[in-house]
Amino acid sequence: PTIDAIIKIGGSAITEKDELETLKSSALPKAFDVIRKCRESGATIIVVHGAGSFGHHHAKKFEISKGISSSINEEALKKKMMGFSLTRQSVQKVKSSHWYEQNIKCIKYHCSRISWRTNKHEPVGWPRETICLLLKQNFVPVLHGDACMDESDGFSILSGDTIIKTLCSHFDVRRAVFLTDVAGVYDRPPSEPDAQLLKSIFVKDDGTVDQVIGTSQSKNDVTGGMLLKLNTATKIVSQTRGRCLVFVCALDSCDSCNIICSAESTEADLLN
Ligand code: ADP
Repeated sequence: PTIDAIIKIGGSAITEKDELETLKSSALPKAFDVIRKCRESGATIIVVHGAGSFGHHHAKKFEISKGISSSINEEALKKKMMGFSLTRQSVQKVKSSHWYEQNIKCIKYHCSRISWRTNKHEPVGWPRETICLLLKQNFVPVLHGDACMDESDGFSILSGDTIIKTLCSHFDVRRAVFLTDVAGVYDRPPSEPDAQLLKSIFVKDDGTVDQVIGTSQSKNDVTGGMLLKLNTATKIVSQTRGRCLVFVCALDSCDSCNIICSAESTEADLLN
């Protein structure tokens, strides 16, 4: 299917990343406004949200992203399994308690419960048929970052950004919009003086970009922060040969944002 947009609602945008399981109170209604507007315009969309302080704290504490080492002892394995379970339960809390209550008719179904599977931390199994069926029935699939089983390492962390990369490589996605807590990708962490928002980032034929960004991440982030997001964005543009445009904007205000696109993108592509 053709997807007009995948909307990523970043963990930083909807949660206080450094405070355990804390939502930013005004953020979800804003996210739903964006989704509602997209739906009113008739667009086919998929929503992916990050886990933020739901999930990341447990994932970090129990080192879920490192998987299960072959030399792990019984006691440590028990702890690791508990950490995996706590991480998944924590992530589910954003889902069950907050999304349905908003009563957005288009959000009918969460398909993250159907487990994704990774191998060496790259997705190898995912609910393609279910997502296709939801889209066919005109529902909005809602997916989220999570802990999952990994074929080589036992456990893995699947970030919302990786989910988007997978969707873009299997569906005809026209736009990927990353809504986060800053106006876009800056040349250095935006908290630093003189940080400049990079307006357009062009991905060259060899999949590289000219801009080098300085980065830092929340102490509880286990998915790589802005640098990983930029890497994901450039891969999406490369693998779709520029057909999918990527935007990074603040959830609060989409007045300024980055656009990450292929060097061949025309003005018309960007305006559409
Ligand atoms: P999300 O959880 O919304 O997907 P991340 O937390 O992974 O987003 O990344 C956004 C954070 O990255 C921002 O809070 C910002 O402070 C930080 N950051 C670090 N370096 C940069 C940079 N060069 N440009 C933009 N943001 C940056």
